[in-house]
Amino acid sequence: MADELFRADAYLKSCEATITAVDGNTIELDRTVFYPTGGGQPGDRGVLALRDGTRITVTDTRKGDGASAVIHVIDGQASPDWVGTTVDASIEWERRHRLMRVHTLLHLLCAVVPAGVTGGAIRDDGTGRLDFDLPESTLDKTEITDALNRLVREDHPVVPRWISEEELDRNPELVRTMSVAPPRGQGRIRVLEISDVDLQPCGGTHVSRTSEIGEVAVDKIEKKGKHNRRVNVRLLTP
Ligand SMILES: [Zn+2]
Repeated sequence: MADELFRADAYLKSCEATITAVDGNTIELDRTVFYPTGGGQPGDRGVLALRDGTRITVTDTRKGDGASAVIHVIDGQASPDWVGTTVDASIEWERRHRLMRVHTLLHLLCAVVPAGVTGGAIRDDGTGRLDFDLPESTLDKTEITDALNRLVREDHPVVPRWISEEELDRNPELVRTMSVAPPRGQGRIRVLEISDVDLQPCGGTHVSRTSEIGEVAVDKIEKKGKHNRRVNVRLLTP
């Protein structure tokens, strides 16, 4: 179990934490700013700095078996002596921020293309893609690029929040705007709201305003099967 600090504040670059477990080349902490691979977003990389000066490179972050277990994959073998030690945990921020921009861009893409989403991916090179359930190719590259850049320029606030299942039931119009049915049974649902644009269940990390994404372009639209159109997007600024 780890306190997942990135859920409440995606802009946290580092935190102090205690090593709670080690196993081979993996480390668990009591709290972390490292996002584990999920929802199409790659896991964070970074450094765990021990008080004795040892710097441990984290090459990947994954979900563990427990409900909120976060596994930090390191370059080398973890020492059992490290359990109980305090570390400064810092993510590779430039890379994460680029992932947050692409992730938020995919929410905009979802709002622009009126079709169900069947898959997607976010890459750390500033590109990403979504697959849409569309039998015919009615999508226009230039139109989508223009619509995305308009939403970026309009600078909509991006707000993650928790809503109760009761609140969702009282506001059926919220459900209508969701392209994915939210998971039920836990009492509350984490949603990502881009004001006047999009509302979806999502547990990932996002920028706080759409202008932070910067100018974007649709790279290409591919036919991937009879009912599948893949839209590839790219950030135009590093
Ligand atoms: Zn998201």
